[in-house]
Amino acid sequence: MLLGEPPRSAGDLHFRLFGIPVRVHPYFWLVAVMLGLGPDSQLSDILIWVVAVVISILIHELGHALLMRAYGLWPWITLTGFGGLASADPAGAQRIGTAGNVLISFAGPAAQFVLVAGLAAALKALGYSITLDTSGIVPLVYPGEPVASWGVSMLLIYLMTASVSWAVLNLIPVYPLDGGQIARDLFLAASPRNGITRSLILSIVAAVAVAVVALSNGSKVLALMAGLLAYSNYAALQAYRNQRGW
Ligand SMILES: [Zn+2]
Repeated sequence: MLLGEPPRSAGDLHFRLFGIPVRVHPYFWLVAVMLGLGPDSQLSDILIWVVAVVISILIHELGHALLMRAYGLWPWITLTGFGGLASADPAGAQRIGTAGNVLISFAGPAAQFVLVAGLAAALKALGYSITLDTSGIVPLVYPGEPVASWGVSMLLIYLMTASVSWAVLNLIPVYPLDGGQIARDLFLAASPRNGITRSLILSIVAAVAVAVVALSNGSKVLALMAGLLAYSNYAALQAYRNQRGW
């Protein structure tokens, strides 16, 4: 999920994962720390949270990128303030067609679901209990008891809850989230003429709905993000209509 690639900066971190170039923009660390800050969080707690977020989002973007490569593209991954982005040459995406692009969009959230299912299965196999927590907007699973040490337990809890939350959030049909990309690809396949307009209208309606649900659940950060996405899609719809002359 992201609005665009950030410019290169001196603080960028570069490495390769399975041969795929990865760039981490400094804003990524800043936003990850801010999201992990609680009223009484310790430094060790925040560090473990940031490690969990890096692993979770890298696995999400790897899901997209590895499938892009399977389709013959040469992807790269950027981690920045609002999460991650797996990109490739846009001409290649057109060549892949609707089904391929939908699968590529779905592969990010799917990779996170597979990670959590794999961790839960491994914990079960080792004799640990798993908690299913349905108290929030999104059902979460995490270890029901301490695993190995405090640090390992916290890492597992953060990794499993952040992964499911991020995957579900990204499947909401709001552009440019993965669910919004999927909706746009399907609308465009059904109607090349009206696809963009329909996907933008669905994005606005879905983002407003998420903002209302988040507000009634007291999730201010989610409500703010959904509100910003509703506005950016509304602005995009106006610009698109002006450009088309109606
Ligand atoms: Zn994604």
